Amino acid sequence: MPNTPDERLHSQLHINSYGVYLRRRFGLRISKVNVDAGFTCPNRDGSKGTGGCIYCNNVSFSPKGTQSVVPLEEQMAAGMTYHRTRLGSEKFIIYFQKYTNTYGSVKLLSDLYSRALDHPDVIGISVGTRPDSLSDDALDLLTEIARTKYVCLELGLQSMDDAILTSINRGHTLDDFIQAVGRAAGRNLDICAHLIYGFPGESAADFLNTADLMAGLPIDSLKLHQLHAVEGTRLADLYRQGEFTPLTLDSYITTVADFLELLPPRIAIQRLYGSAPLDICVAPQWGLKNNQMWYAIVNELTRRGSWQGRRSELS
Ligand code: SF4
Repeated sequence: MPNTPDERLHSQLHINSYGVYLRRRFGLRISKVNVDAGFTCPNRDGSKGTGGCIYCNNVSFSPKGTQSVVPLEEQMAAGMTYHRTRLGSEKFIIYFQKYTNTYGSVKLLSDLYSRALDHPDVIGISVGTRPDSLSDDALDLLTEIARTKYVCLELGLQSMDDAILTSINRGHTLDDFIQAVGRAAGRNLDICAHLIYGFPGESAADFLNTADLMAGLPIDSLKLHQLHAVEGTRLADLYRQGEFTPLTLDSYITTVADFLELLPPRIAIQRLYGSAPLDICVAPQWGLKNNQMWYAIVNELTRRGSWQGRRSELS
């Protein structure tokens, strides 16, 4: 049975959710507001690669209203109004989401991050990027900001298998990720890892090894979603050619529950599902909302009488 206060909490809630983590840390209801700051990606413009990751179509993970042509402040205002009205959120974290949000001069980054932080209801920023696109200057800038504001650095790993990373045209290695996490650690940044499960050739056992990797790194939170094919991507072509077989919903839920049991309860979970607009979602088409997937996984853990970290060796 669980012993520490944290273990007891997560055995009741089953998952250490990031929303609860933020509420406990700041004592307020806090929402993330996605913005598109007009960045591009070095895996698309030729500096690291061309064509991008085989599953990447940024439309699929950019909610409506986050278009780069809309000024940052307008995107923020619309997002904050939405979250205030819908969830009663009081303060906000501005999430620089689309493409690679440290891919620019430190002057540009400083200007964009400062504009977000100027709003009195913004407590911090979350910055999504690639592990091979984090310059020392960008890291120092984030460290400086973290002296007074909350900063979450979201690093995309996706798979810990270098062969998979090559096959999906990811353009970086596991070692790049480990190095980036090491450089970011100890700077008062929250570090979030992005993972995907369901790559061609990946077994559940392969994926479950990722829990041990995360346990051994100074990762504070995690985002996971199923591999899904959306229109306009190489993965959609592979699906139509019969070379990509999506996971079944049952197998995804089972494996994610297994993964969470192995994951230390100290790691907060930001996301367990990826949804794409219906008009571009090719496969799998599970038709669930984010919260429906969340509760499907909680229900599976409840059915097992289990919780995040029940089988983890490190916490
Ligand atoms: S690194 Fe991100 S933005 Fe760049 S191609 Fe891959 S998924 Fe797309």
